[in-house]
Amino acid sequence: MSLSPAQQLLAVTQQLAQLGLNKGTSGNVSVRLDDGLLITPSGVPVEALTTHSMVFLDWEGVAESGKKPSSEWRFHRDILQARPEVNAVVHTHSMFATTMACHGTDIPAFHYMIAAIGGDDIRCAPYALFGTQALSEVAVQALVGRQACLLAQHGMIAVGHDLQRALATAVEVEQLCEQYWRLLQLGLVKRLSAEQMRAVHAQFVGYGQWHSTRASSS
Ligand code: 13P
Ligand code: ZN
Repeated sequence: MSLSPAQQLLAVTQQLAQLGLNKGTSGNVSVRLDDGLLITPSGVPVEALTTHSMVFLDWEGVAESGKKPSSEWRFHRDILQARPEVNAVVHTHSMFATTMACHGTDIPAFHYMIAAIGGDDIRCAPYALFGTQALSEVAVQALVGRQACLLAQHGMIAVGHDLQRALATAVEVEQLCEQYWRLLQLGLVKRLSAEQMRAVHAQFVGYGQWHSTRASSS
């Protein structure tokens, strides 16, 4: 039996907590519906969430009455509108992605799996206040041709064709950020060349099950 969008949203929100990617009320998740999106509520800890907590929002940003959507509904809505192939958005304040986001630099091609995020780096969007249209605009820009980005002094966003893929990308980005953080302790970072990354992108065509929905521009 397939899960309803609200059940899927709850399951992924709980998985993010179980994996340690979100704690307390940090982070939020959304999924595309025909006439808008379903998004987690603002400021509710995962333990208190039920399927009924999830908030429907139309494309104008009008929420169903009596419910308060995530403060980040603008970037969820704008990403879903800008990216027709994306049906799910995951936002985390996970430890290593957020540490690197506070460092404020793009994550370069230090490992071939950077290509799985869509290009030759993971961009870090410049700082903007949480819950604002300004944050939405820098996030949409940093995600062009990518499945994820960092948000300076804040966290990360991962997107996907569905919620499980967006979650898997968030897990991958967190791992890459941890590896890069550890590498920086050693002081020397070897990067793959543009030519080597071109070969990685080509090798990903036909790899696994998900390649057809990966972004592939740099
Ligand atoms: P919400 O609880 O409003 O979703 O806010 C959490 C968050 O991560 C803000 O950036
Ligand atoms: Zn946040």
